[in-house]
Amino acid sequence: MRCYDMAVVGAGPAGCTAALYAARAGLDVLVLERLGPGGQMAQTQHIENYPGFPDGADGAALADGMKAGAERAGAIFLLADVRSAQLTGRVKELQTDGGPVLARTVVLATGAGPRRLGLPQEDELPGVSYCAACDGAFFRGKDVAVVGGGNSAVSEALLLSRLCRHVTLVHRRSTFRAAPAGLAALEKQDNVTFCRNSIVTELLGRERLTGIRLQNGRELEISGLFVCIGRTPVSALGGEQLRRTPDGYYCADETTRTGLPGVFAAGDVREKQLRQIVTAVSDGAAAAQQAEHYLGKTSRRAEI
Ligand code: NAP
Repeated sequence: MRCYDMAVVGAGPAGCTAALYAARAGLDVLVLERLGPGGQMAQTQHIENYPGFPDGADGAALADGMKAGAERAGAIFLLADVRSAQLTGRVKELQTDGGPVLARTVVLATGAGPRRLGLPQEDELPGVSYCAACDGAFFRGKDVAVVGGGNSAVSEALLLSRLCRHVTLVHRRSTFRAAPAGLAALEKQDNVTFCRNSIVTELLGRERLTGIRLQNGRELEISGLFVCIGRTPVSALGGEQLRRTPDGYYCADETTRTGLPGVFAAGDVREKQLRQIVTAVSDGAAAAQQAEHYLGKTSRRAEI
C-alpha cells in the first residue's frame, strides 16, 4: 500500500499552503478534505485583509487558487472524511470513509467550526444556520434573527439586512465586542432591531424553525436564525495521543510541531494569538519545512 510522505487533513489556507510548500520540496503529498477547499475562507464573500488584493478578495476564488497552486506543484487532493488517526508510530495511519491512508508525516489543519448554542433541535431544525454568506439567500424577504455580539454577528446581520425583510440582533449583554464602525453601520439600517441582554432559550417549530423564545419569555417569529457566537477548534483527531489547550486547540508553537514526532498542527486549530488567513498560510509553510526536516532525519525512503 502506498505510503505518502505527507498527509494533510483539511484544505483550508493552512492545509493548502503546507501541501504547496511540501510538494515543491519534492514530497509526495495527499490532502484530505471533507467538503471542498478553503475551509472558513471559502464561506467569506469579501476578504479585505489578505495582502495583495487592494479591492478585497473573493474567499471562494482564493480557496480555488490555493488548491490549484498546490495541485500544480504535485499535491493530490481527495474528498474524504478522516474519522480517526493512529499517529504515534513512524508510519501514521488515517481511517477515512474511503479506506485507510498511510503517511510518514501528518499535518492537522482541520480549522475551527461554529460554536453552537447547545439548544435542543439545533442540529436538525431547518432554518438554523451558521453562515449568512452561505444561506442568507434562502431567507430573502423574510424575518430573521442573528445571535451574538462580536464582529461576525454584526457583519452577518449587515449582510442579512440587505436581503431580509427584518433582522433582529440578539445579544446576551448590553455592550458589544464588535468594532464600533460595524456597529454604527448596522444601527443605520432601518430594518434592524437590537435585542440586548437577551438569551435564546428555545427554538420553536417542528418541521422547520418558526421562531425563538428568549429568557424573559418573549417570542420572536422568524424563519431563520443565524448563530454567530464564536468558533471552536475541530480537534477530535488524534484523541488522547495529542495535547490540547483547555479550549481544545492543539498544543504546538510557531514551528507547528506537536508532541508527536512527524505530526504538525497548522492554522486555526493550533493554539495561537491571532487566527487569520495570513497566520494560517504561515503555519502551513512552517509545517512543510518542519516535515521536510523530520523526514530528512528519519530517512523517508526507508522501507515500511
Ligand atoms: P467573538 O468575537 O468571540 O464573539 C462571540 C460573540 O458571541 C460574543 O459577543 C459573545 O458574547 C457571544 N457568545 C459566545 N457564546 C455565547 C452563547 N453561548 N450564547 C450567546 N452568545 C454567546 O467571535 P466572532 O464574532 O466569531 O469573531 C471571531 C474573531 O474573528 C474575532 O477576533 C473577530 O474580531 C474576528 N472577525 C473579524 C471580522 C472583521 O471584519 N474584521 C469579521 C468577523 C470576525 P460576549 O460578548 O457576552 O462574550
